Amino acid sequence: METNILLFGEMEANRLCPSALDLLGFANSVHTGRVGKIIMALPTAGPTMKETVEDMAELISGASLHPVDLVILENPAFEHPHPPLLGVALKSLALENKAEMICLPHSMLYCQVAATVATGLGATVVTGVERLGREGEQITFERSLMNGKWKATVSPRSARQVVTLNSGAFAKDVPERKRGAKVTVMKRDFLKTDRGYPHLGMRWPESGTCALEKADAIVAAGRGMTATPQGLDLVRRAVGIFKNAALGSSRPLCDAQMLPFACQIGETGRRVAPGLYLACGISGAPQHLAGMNGSRCVVAVNTDPEAPIFNRADYGVIADAGQFLALLVKKYDERMERGRQIKDI
Ligand SMILES: Cc1cc2nc3c(=O)[nH]c(=O)nc-3n(C[C@H](O)[C@H](O)[C@H](O)COP(=O)(O)OP(=O)(O)OC[C@H]3O[C@@H](n4cnc5c(N)ncnc54)[C@H](O)[C@@H]3O)c2cc1C
Repeated sequence: METNILLFGEMEANRLCPSALDLLGFANSVHTGRVGKIIMALPTAGPTMKETVEDMAELISGASLHPVDLVILENPAFEHPHPPLLGVALKSLALENKAEMICLPHSMLYCQVAATVATGLGATVVTGVERLGREGEQITFERSLMNGKWKATVSPRSARQVVTLNSGAFAKDVPERKRGAKVTVMKRDFLKTDRGYPHLGMRWPESGTCALEKADAIVAAGRGMTATPQGLDLVRRAVGIFKNAALGSSRPLCDAQMLPFACQIGETGRRVAPGLYLACGISGAPQHLAGMNGSRCVVAVNTDPEAPIFNRADYGVIADAGQFLALLVKKYDERMERGRQIKDI
């Protein structure tokens, strides 16, 4: 039985977002006999330039194992994110193409779109999918529970499924000899309006609080650093040890306003790729990993030997992160002091 797969990608500043290529990676991982038509839809306020479309088609062609219908959904209402409007367009496209599997990136915006579309189509929603599996003819989806400590295999019984895919989970290069899938481009508009909703404006976080994206080293604090008042001070002092370093954070600390949102690393925060990522008291939830997976060397300090961050870490320290950082800072200070004394002589 073949399945038509509809991928709902994202564009940013007239370019294809990397998450759109993750969606193609997902379609590639469905076993070949099962793949029917693949449709990739990209909502944009437009007008989309011919060269932009050509560039995107080339990228898609190099990232897909199967032919793709690239549908540009162009409407001025898409200038600002609006889940119900995106949902209307996606639902219409799913019905038109008889798509049984509808895939979106796992982000706050697209989880809302997924809910809208699934309700309209009577489909099952599976969010935060990390792997595909099979039970006979049935496709199954693997997702994390309890911040990554447990894995759940979901086996939907409904004819249609709407799934959101964790960032990076399906990213995989297509071998060169298999590249060059046929891409057919078309433009569609399913909205009866070009006015989404009264837009009051956008406010971006002040930049400069943390130069996270440019940092060579990041010391990141998680909930495990909040048990004592000195926890965050120690993290700040540890940042001072490294050259071109910045302070990062998991989401709970920003939600609790202990650190500014600009420090948040993860799916709904910044994406970083420093040389060193020192994760202190961070469990390693998939949403956090999504923001720091590109780090070259990850050192994790956690009291729980089962914490999922250790699966990603190059070096793991099972210890109280407060004690570890206090020792690190002490040793650094001692070494600096020795250096000063040698210079004085
Ligand atoms: C749609 C969505 C988007 C999200 N986006 C993000 C995001 O962008 N970024 C993000 O970070 N999260 C995000 N989250 C939240 C995410 O799921 C986790 O809840 C969050 O990352 C957990 O943060 P944490 O690891 O600091 O806390 P916890 O999961 O509570 O982990 C704390 C860890 O500290 C350890 N610990 C406790 N005491 C100590 C100690 N003294 N020394 C050392 N270790 C200690 C514990 O063993 C534990 O592993 C998102 C969630 C959703 C649903």
